[in-house]
Amino acid sequence: MIVNEHIEGYIDSLIPDLPDDLRDLEEWALANGVPIIRKSMQQFLKVILLERNPLKILEIGTAIGFSTLFLERFSRPETEITTIEKVEMRLKDARKNLAGHDRIRLIEGDALTVLDNMVLNHTERYDFIFLDAAKGQYPEFLKPIKTLLNPGGMLVTDNVLLEGSIAESKFSIERRDRTIHKRMREYLYELTHSDDFETVILPVGDGVAVSINKEK
Ligand code: SAH
Ligand code: MG
Repeated sequence: MIVNEHIEGYIDSLIPDLPDDLRDLEEWALANGVPIIRKSMQQFLKVILLERNPLKILEIGTAIGFSTLFLERFSRPETEITTIEKVEMRLKDARKNLAGHDRIRLIEGDALTVLDNMVLNHTERYDFIFLDAAKGQYPEFLKPIKTLLNPGGMLVTDNVLLEGSIAESKFSIERRDRTIHKRMREYLYELTHSDDFETVILPVGDGVAVSINKEK
C-alpha cells in the first residue's frame, strides 16, 4: 500500500460500484489470487478514458481479462482493444471471459515477440497503451511501445511503485525482488529522462506512470 490504509480506504469508499458482471469477475480474481487493477486504478482509467476517447487500445498483460473488459466497458462503443497474454493458466480463463466480445482481440504469446512483430509489420499504431505485465521486463517494452504509440498517445504503466518498495535502498530489498527493483528503477528513469515522453508518476493503486508520446 502506497497511500496509507486509512486514506486509501476512504478514497475507495467513494468509488461507485462496478456493474454486476465486472464485480463478479473482480471477486473471482481476488479470491483466486489474480493481480487485477485495484479500485483506485479502475477509477483513474475511467476518467482517463473519458478524457482521451482512445479508439485503438493496446493492453499488455491480460491475465483473465478483467481490465480488458473494464477498458471495453468504459471506452466508446467503437473502440477496439488488443490484449496480449502468454501464460496458459490465465489464457484458459481469458479466452472464456473475452469470448463473444467483438471489440476485443486476444493475442496469445510473449508480448515482447508480439510487439516486435507488430513493429516489423508496421501494424496500426495505438492511441492508448496499458502496460501491466512482468515488471522486470518493462525496460525492454519501452522501445517497441514508443514505435507503436501514436503521436500524442498515452502510455499508462501499472504497479510502478512496487508497494512503495521502489523508494527503498536496494540493500533493504529481499534478494529475490532485487532484479525487479532494479529494472523498475531503470524503467522509470528512462521514461522520465526520455525526449520521447513526458511522464508523471502518481501514487494511485500500486503506483502508475502516465506518459505522453511527445512526437508531433
Ligand atoms: N491487466 C490485468 C492483470 C494483469 S497481471 C488486470 O488488471 O485485470 C499481469 C499478466 O501479465 C499476467 O497474467 C502475466 O502472465 C502476463 N505477462 C507477464 N509477462 C508477459 C509477457 N512477456 N507477455 C505476455 N503476458 C505477460
Ligand atoms: Mg497491475
